[in-house]
Amino acid sequence: MAEGDTVLRMARRIEGAFGDGFILAAEAPNRKNPIGPRVDELVGRSLVRAETRGKHLVLHLGDDLALHAHMGMNGGWYAYRPGQRWKRPRRSAWLVLDLGATTLVQFGGTMMRLIRPAELRRDSRLALLGPDVLAGPEALELGTANLLGAHGLEIGEALLNQRLIAGIGNIFKSESCFEARVDPWRKVDTIDPDLMARLVETAARQMERGVETGRRPGRIYRKAGRPCIRCGTPVRSRGQGVDNRTTYWCPGCQT
Ligand SMILES: [Zn+2]
Repeated sequence: MAEGDTVLRMARRIEGAFGDGFILAAEAPNRKNPIGPRVDELVGRSLVRAETRGKHLVLHLGDDLALHAHMGMNGGWYAYRPGQRWKRPRRSAWLVLDLGATTLVQFGGTMMRLIRPAELRRDSRLALLGPDVLAGPEALELGTANLLGAHGLEIGEALLNQRLIAGIGNIFKSESCFEARVDPWRKVDTIDPDLMARLVETAARQMERGVETGRRPGRIYRKAGRPCIRCGTPVRSRGQGVDNRTTYWCPGCQT
């Protein structure tokens, strides 16, 4: 599942695959990809940088063009060497970029478009995003303040609200609340600023570890019915928030 950590890993993978090279050929085999008719515009371009904003990925491809993709639940970028077996069939790939020594492929995702960088800055989807949980201490402070101001929301729902803080998905919602011993059903209003800051820092630390290692904590997520590793109480799960995303928590040691 794509959360901020995996999207940042993808961005690093993409930058590594490009190096100083450029796109030799581009193809959009999957008809779902709306950029299909314009895919030739990518040929000949190098990568200035790969930027992440929560689950959004933006590839800056020079002065006048950027590729903007949202990873959704299942989107991912993969780098393949010649002859290497692909994860899924070519016809399902949203985008295939031939870089010579490497082929970059995106499977899945929910949106992709080509856009001028100036328009990107005015884009409402990006402008409305809160500070990125992986963008350092200042962003964490802003995100903490936003969460504290989300009156009436349960913390498990607030953590997923990308306008308050961007990048945390369903896994890190449950895992960060568990590690910080916060009951995800508590109303934001009952959480004092120190505890909120600790919770947000916990999520950031877990996700930074995810960026470095590719691994996630896995202490509470999808452990419903199993004994809590801390106190032995059976772990519970239930849908939370307007999107009814499943939250996992231990009623014994998260208060
Ligand atoms: Zn417990």
